[in-house]
Amino acid sequence: MSWSRMIWNLLTRARGLAMGVARVLPILGVAFLVACGGETKRLPNVVLVIGDTLRADALSFQGGMPGATPYVEKIAAQGVQFTQARSHAPWTLPSTASLLSSLHPLEHGAGGQVPRFKKMDESVTTITRTFKDAGYKTHAIVNVTFLDPRALGVTRDFDTVDNRSFESNLETRIARDTTAAALQWMEENASDGPFFLLVHYFDPHCVYAPPKVFRERWAAEPDKATDWTFGTREQMIAIRQGALVPDAETIARAYALYRGEVAYFDAEVGRLEAGLMAHSAEGDTIFALTSDHGEEFMDHAGFEHGHSLFDELVRVPLILRAPGRLTPGVIDAPVRHIDVAPTLAELCNLPVPAQFVGRSLVGLANGESEDVPRGTLAHGNFWGAPLDSWTKGGWKLIRKGDGSLMLFDLREDPKELVDLSSTKEERVKSMLAEMETVTKGMEALNRGTSASLDAATKSRLEALGYGPGEGRRPESAEDGEK
Ligand SMILES: [Zn+2]
Repeated sequence: MSWSRMIWNLLTRARGLAMGVARVLPILGVAFLVACGGETKRLPNVVLVIGDTLRADALSFQGGMPGATPYVEKIAAQGVQFTQARSHAPWTLPSTASLLSSLHPLEHGAGGQVPRFKKMDESVTTITRTFKDAGYKTHAIVNVTFLDPRALGVTRDFDTVDNRSFESNLETRIARDTTAAALQWMEENASDGPFFLLVHYFDPHCVYAPPKVFRERWAAEPDKATDWTFGTREQMIAIRQGALVPDAETIARAYALYRGEVAYFDAEVGRLEAGLMAHSAEGDTIFALTSDHGEEFMDHAGFEHGHSLFDELVRVPLILRAPGRLTPGVIDAPVRHIDVAPTLAELCNLPVPAQFVGRSLVGLANGESEDVPRGTLAHGNFWGAPLDSWTKGGWKLIRKGDGSLMLFDLREDPKELVDLSSTKEERVKSMLAEMETVTKGMEALNRGTSASLDAATKSRLEALGYGPGEGRRPESAEDGEK
């Protein structure tokens, strides 16, 4: 090799090294330390817990049975508890996509209807990407096919995803094993620098089958010492198709078992949080907890989830604990899932992606008043023509699949039992105009691509009762797929 060639090679290598260092240094700088009012702080670890199918009012401190959820209650008391938080869809896929992308279902595109599901659009960014770009290690522990990164895209930005999708709801990874996976991951990774960890607990989703100790405490009297369960695939399909109409006593027994599942979830959250604190200094850890949607127990003559936008399905728990960053308290102002991702970014002093449409909750949580209430748009229907709702200022407007409207006064009628659409025409008009302004342009985006699921994924979804022919009977000719 000639001298000139050797010198050229050396120069090229040096330039490459310099560029590599230039690329790495800012990441390292941002990854571990951040200047904060003149003092330098370590970036906080962030743990986001999603309790699948967890109704807000199943928590003991939000109207549930006293004593059912002491661990979540303790975390809530140390943080900010939002009593009026809502998701943007009544089922896992679009709801979790909104939580992580700060976009509405029509904007991120993930959703669709059984069995034609849609992937999150390729152009969509998520809070996971924000953490990753700042040098965080990102890991998700999830327990349902809808959150599989390969199938539908919602968790695709995580460095690693530990997904267990099973052939039946009876075989799912139970909360104890989900916690164990999270604790083990922290054991192996927490010392490497800041991390963003998503922990999705499939409990308390049906089948409602809490472990013995929780069954003995929370099940209805006849079921305490038996192995009776409710919410099997066959029962769900029969209920959806009208072949099985559970009576009030069966519903009460099913709810008692569900309550046992919620208590089990709570105990496991307690174990996860204790393990997390063993790996993190208190001021270095942000703990967030929510659910993807709730569950209906005949509140509106329906069962399970995915099929309506009433509050038993879209009002969700939301707790944010960030010592030194958020003032503990209770916030009754309405907030949305799309607000969570920008909040986490602000709490960590990270840039909020321009694509996010939610607004950070940090100011609100720390006592700033807001002149205009946050309006919440929800969209979707697992089984048929999409539903839309617009919730704002204590009112909720629901547009059904056939275009008909319902209006509820959430302050006077929180259970949404009295439809005021025929007596409050002006209110209906103004709410509809607002909803249409918000949705204008979203439909035109037409985001989300039909997912081509592999045979194994399809069979797992069918085994869970989410296959063709397992949905609801159409209520009318218009209530079919559009
Ligand atoms: Zn779910």
